[in-house]
Amino acid sequence: METKGSSKLFQSVVLFTVAIIFAMVIFIVDVNVPAYIAIGAVYSIVILYSWLLPGAYTHLYTGIFCSILVIIGFINSPKSEIQNNLEGVNLIISLIVVWICVALVAAAKRGYIGLENLLEKLEDKVLERTKVLELKNKELEQFTYIASHDLQEPLRTVTSFTEFLAANYMHKIDNQGKQSIQYMLDATERMRNLVKGLLDYSRIGANTEKENVDCTLMLNEIKNDLATIISDHNAHIVINNLPRNLKAHGMELRQLFQNLLTNALKFRKDNSAPEIYVSSVKRKTYWDFSIKDNGIGIAKEHQKRIFKIFQRLHASSQYKGTGIGLAHCQKIVELHQGKIWVESEIGKGSTFYFRIPHS
Ligand code: ADP
Repeated sequence: METKGSSKLFQSVVLFTVAIIFAMVIFIVDVNVPAYIAIGAVYSIVILYSWLLPGAYTHLYTGIFCSILVIIGFINSPKSEIQNNLEGVNLIISLIVVWICVALVAAAKRGYIGLENLLEKLEDKVLERTKVLELKNKELEQFTYIASHDLQEPLRTVTSFTEFLAANYMHKIDNQGKQSIQYMLDATERMRNLVKGLLDYSRIGANTEKENVDCTLMLNEIKNDLATIISDHNAHIVINNLPRNLKAHGMELRQLFQNLLTNALKFRKDNSAPEIYVSSVKRKTYWDFSIKDNGIGIAKEHQKRIFKIFQRLHASSQYKGTGIGLAHCQKIVELHQGKIWVESEIGKGSTFYFRIPHS
């Protein structure tokens, strides 16, 4: 703070010294040149330069100072008998030029100060709005947490009674009743997954610290967790050039990779085994990760909305899911001040990218 103040003072002293040297040079020339040559008008440079000097009225003081120099210069400069008329006119012209410049600098300064005030007001407004948004976001997260948490209890009751019915009364009811119970079981399972997804979503980033993550190790662990589905579909997963020491929220990053890998396996083409490449590129201040698959692909018009919560492109009878996975991914990446996007072509596959700063 102190060094900032003293460097500002030093800067002001230098600026003032330059202004005075300028004015003195013009003055010396003015005194030595005949009065009928309007050297005084050159003081306009000093007035314009005063724009750089600190203080709200410095241009005014500079104007007065230069006017005095113009008059002293006029009195002391050599007079000529022939150009006698011009001398008085030149004095007036010099003074007019000096004060026009003063007026110009004053107008420019006023405009600049107005602009600065406007900017300050805008900044305050943005800050205020950000605070309100953050508060609203927190409230919404809390609401999501409470709602999904409280929904679990009645859901558990419905599920257990339906299971009880299925286990003990199946033989006593007709086919339509059996089918209805099956629908109820399916619906309660879907709802359980949705509620769990919402609960997990609201918990992302809650009270977690960043740690050093070995991404290659993490990916290999996820591969092990998914071993059954990988072997069931003859999937081939290649992991390449991932950071060994990334500062990140470990649990959340694992979930991010796992969601993207699970999707790459889930949205595979019927006629070919999944080929998945996970890699990253180190840039100056961040890492760019990519998860590339040879699956069904995503049409251009859907590539943005799939990151919104509950947005799915297929019926759950076709591909199971809740539509929360990619919203999770987006929230996790944003928790790291990064971004996520996809490039894809229907029938050719998709590449999901996400960017995470080094620290
Ligand atoms: P879910 O997988 O539960 O449906 P997500 O939020 O993970 O929900 O994905 C949203 C939608 O994005 C999916 O329903 C699917 O249509 C599409 N999608 C996600 N990943 C892929 C992928 N790798 N290939 C093709 N489509 C995908």
